Amino acid sequence: MRLLKTILLPLLALAQAALCAEDYYKVLGLDKQASDRQIKSAYRQLSKKYHPDKNPNDSTAHDKFVLVAEAYEALSDAESRQIYDQYGYDALKQRKQQGGGGGGGHDPFDLFSRFFGGGGHYGSQPGQRRGHNVEVKVPVALRDFYNGRTTEFQWNKQEICEECEGTGAADRVVHACTACAGRGVRTVRQQLAPGMVTQVQMQCDACGGRGKSIKHRCKACGGERVVRRPATVSLTVQRGMADGVRIAYENEADASPDYVAGDLIVQVVEKEPELEGEESNPDRVDGVFFRRKEDDLFWREVLSLREALMGGWTRNVTHLDGHVVRLGRERGVVVQPNHVETVPGEGMPKWHEDGDSVYHKTEFGNLYVEYTVVLPDQMDSGMEKDLWAVFEKWRAKNGIDLHKDSGRPDKPVMHDHEHDEL
Ligand SMILES: [Zn+2]
Ligand SMILES: [Zn+2]
Repeated sequence: MRLLKTILLPLLALAQAALCAEDYYKVLGLDKQASDRQIKSAYRQLSKKYHPDKNPNDSTAHDKFVLVAEAYEALSDAESRQIYDQYGYDALKQRKQQGGGGGGGHDPFDLFSRFFGGGGHYGSQPGQRRGHNVEVKVPVALRDFYNGRTTEFQWNKQEICEECEGTGAADRVVHACTACAGRGVRTVRQQLAPGMVTQVQMQCDACGGRGKSIKHRCKACGGERVVRRPATVSLTVQRGMADGVRIAYENEADASPDYVAGDLIVQVVEKEPELEGEESNPDRVDGVFFRRKEDDLFWREVLSLREALMGGWTRNVTHLDGHVVRLGRERGVVVQPNHVETVPGEGMPKWHEDGDSVYHKTEFGNLYVEYTVVLPDQMDSGMEKDLWAVFEKWRAKNGIDLHKDSGRPDKPVMHDHEHDEL
């Protein structure tokens, strides 16, 4: 027992030491199984959140910004991630100090600028440019507006080339342009007239005014420093969100080393239902054919002549989440053509900024059912005879004839001279 303790205690101390080191997964809010894409996405979100430009005079935010960058660099490189997973923080640190390759030693602002451009800062620096906002329309099925859903979409985004880290150079080394000595402009002497010489500053044609030159162009971007490729964006459609609502993704528009990325504006619009759409209607619900108007839904139900006249019918309409709305009439209850029935609470959920919670119960709009009555084009002759007989019988009994039905007076009005005088 005593022997066991002497072995266990140092082991426990070691475990304690390991815990003190930063848990990079925890820093990024991920678990050990996280994919490369999740790591990237976590970095994108957290680095924007803790960026010192957004949190002035907040040293905690600054430390977090640095730490998030460190965690990303450690986990985004396959080799360094493996070392971290297997041997931990200290091993990784040791490797870095020995100058081990891959994923180390970047300035956190440098890393930030590789994602969002603009030299690692938000337009707070004077003269800093900001890229255009980009607007994309994302069609979403009605059931997603009803039930809420987290989905993904893709768009063709300009990103800073990862291969050359936005330098445009295969070796990632940028030199000062020799033609203009890095100034981007050249002074040219121009003779206006004999004896009259003026000096004009012109943009350097060797480097296009950037003051920088590279030896070998990056193969991935051809020296352009940016590449355009499909970017996958996660989209959360909240229950009851309005059709056509715009959601802004800060600094997620086209990126470039020359400016801070603008915002990606996503407009969520309702998709037309497809008749046999397995994709838009996997549960084969009737509700997919509801029409939406703000918080209300509209549905057209067809009744036969017999149903409209006699009652005694039911319908089960499967709603957008699969629950059934029962429509129907008792026998003897007539439904007039084009009658609109209000079914309270069977419309769309009303959007609420807090979503669903224990403090807030979702309210719903109404469902409006419009009844269409179809008359037969032609009747089976037997049926026609029977119906005729029934109506004849009732006509005879009630003394109703066509003439009376039409609402015209029974007899032509006779003009009476005596009456005229009154
Ligand atoms: Zn490149
Ligand atoms: Zn130049």
